[in-house]
Amino acid sequence: MNIILMGLPGAGKGTQAEKITEHFGMIHVSTGDMFRQAMSAKTELGKTAQNYIDQGHLVPDEVTNGIVKERLGQEDVKAKGFMLDGYPRTLNQAEALDQIVAQLNTNIDQVINIKVDPEILVNRLSGRFICRKCGATYHRVYNPPKVADTCDICGSHDFYQRDDDRPEVVRNRLKVNIEENTPLIAYYEKQGKLTNVDGSQAIDVVSQQIQEILKKV
Ligand code: ADP
Ligand code: ADP
Ligand code: ZN
Repeated sequence: MNIILMGLPGAGKGTQAEKITEHFGMIHVSTGDMFRQAMSAKTELGKTAQNYIDQGHLVPDEVTNGIVKERLGQEDVKAKGFMLDGYPRTLNQAEALDQIVAQLNTNIDQVINIKVDPEILVNRLSGRFICRKCGATYHRVYNPPKVADTCDICGSHDFYQRDDDRPEVVRNRLKVNIEENTPLIAYYEKQGKLTNVDGSQAIDVVSQQIQEILKKV
């Protein structure tokens, strides 16, 4: 099963992808996670991405399309399917993705759009923190670890906050993303693949609703 998870920054894509892929077995492919890994490893890709991400800008399409094409062609994804998180983000990327899946002789089954009012998102992003070891995402108020300062998934005590979750950068990120998002939603609506989910509900309610949609795919 090949799924796209859409939604503005902070809508809950990473949180839901973690739960849904565990349940259905497809591979979670997050362009944001791939860029962050490249930045911390200081690869060429990482250095390029850093310049854009630090300013709240999108990474150029040709760079992003390239890493997605490479990842979707790998054996684990070909065998288990994918759940894309954070890609596509522009119309150009959506068109590139159509070509990539066609070349791989597969297709996109469903696009899930997690909708949340932008005002809620500033709050979510400013309270977000992440496990450095395994990448699991938490929130100070809405989704703290079960045991304080201990990752539910891997037991690590080492957490960090993303640089681009600072309030000054968050506003620009949301603005850029809202502008890019609108034509994308229309693109998938026209293909009859889009389903909206109300992402302002509790995390487990949102997961349940996404699972119900995917059971029908
Ligand atoms: P995205 O990947 O879309 O940017 P995340 O999954 O990282 O979003 O979620 C952003 C922040 O909001 C995280 O701190 C997460 O714990 C929290 N969060 C996610 N879903 C919900 C929800 N339904 N209600 C409240 N907080 C949420
Ligand atoms: P978010 O919390 O914004 O959903 P992500 O973790 O998906 O953040 O992405 C972090 C940053 O990486 C983005 O602000 C952007 O600069 C870059 N990025 C991620 N995915 C893409 C993409 N599909 N196209 C361009 N830039 C991207
Ligand atoms: Zn962890």
